[in-house]
Amino acid sequence: MTVHIGVIGTGMIGQDHIRRLTDVVTGAEVVAVTDVDGARAAEVASGIGARALPTGQDVIADPLVDAVVVTSWGPTHAEFVLAAIAAGKYVFCEKPLATTAEDCLRIIEAEQSVGRRLVQVGFMRRYDAGYRAMKEVLDSRDLGHPLMMHCAHRNPTVPEAYHSAMAVQDTAVHEIDTIRWLLDEEIVSAQVIRPRRTANRFEHLVDPQFMLFETASGVRVDLEVFVNCQFGYDIQCETVCETGTVRLPDPADVIVKTAAVQRTGVLQDWKDRFGAAFDREFVEWIASIDDGRLAGPSAWDGYAAAVTTDAGTEALETGRVVSVRLKDRPDLYGS
Ligand code: NAD
Repeated sequence: MTVHIGVIGTGMIGQDHIRRLTDVVTGAEVVAVTDVDGARAAEVASGIGARALPTGQDVIADPLVDAVVVTSWGPTHAEFVLAAIAAGKYVFCEKPLATTAEDCLRIIEAEQSVGRRLVQVGFMRRYDAGYRAMKEVLDSRDLGHPLMMHCAHRNPTVPEAYHSAMAVQDTAVHEIDTIRWLLDEEIVSAQVIRPRRTANRFEHLVDPQFMLFETASGVRVDLEVFVNCQFGYDIQCETVCETGTVRLPDPADVIVKTAAVQRTGVLQDWKDRFGAAFDREFVEWIASIDDGRLAGPSAWDGYAAAVTTDAGTEALETGRVVSVRLKDRPDLYGS
């Protein structure tokens, strides 16, 4: 069966997902696209033999569209996800699910009233081979219970428009989802410590930031977010358990030895680091639609991420330890 897809937002990641759905994933075809930049949508549509429609609502209502991919700007996500649920269509929404926890709850309520999962959120790290291998080790409990986790999220540089709260809202949000998924429990508090600032930053920016999270069972997580580290895109994660540790591998690359030095390249871009994870994410999304049972990150995961990033934002502003207070998880999203 071919799943016919409509894409809302043909910007950077929208175009990348369209390429992926067209060239990498079998059983999917992008049949309609839209963008507020109509010329861009028309150009993208003509490249793949799809139709460019005037608005996101037109894409969702199109009878030829089975499932919707939302890759427009964050503040528009909730409206499109709610409309897709109302139309009874599967919807893959890039992070964030919505820009407020209240809107995430509206989405959860709408999905519950339909009685089955239609929404998947684009937390693609869950599809990375290294993180998956780590989760397998943790789930087996071969090393006992996890106690601590040390993480780092480093980017070479960020543009001037990147502001301090984005360190948790746009950058650490990936670790926030990964921590919850790897440990299979919720985060209950967040704290942000400000180390000495790097000279290699725009004046307004707090960089680096040192974030501390605590989970419901008492696991402590430290996360260094350093978005002007200069040297590359570098993701680190090590979980310390009762009888051993498990650590994310660095991406494989050749080792060059010359002139008394041994060196390996460092990736520069998140698209290179997580390209295979994005591919896998869409392969499995289409397969789960075929099965009629979504298995990827849910609206609940989008909600929990929103509440936790709100706590992180408050923690940055106040310097305090801020509690993460979630509603009770509905049965639809498991225990
Ligand atoms: P972008 O600005 O390159 O593209 C967004 C596109 O959406 C633009 O072409 C814009 O014109 C269009 N758009 C905005 N409002 C619209 C509307 N109401 N209807 C139709 N089109 C609309 O941004 P991007 O970098 O591609 O990011 C898009 C989303 O993907 C963001 O939410 C971002 O956080 C997310 N994202 C996720 C990851 C990840 O690692 N999972 C990576 C990059 C981006």
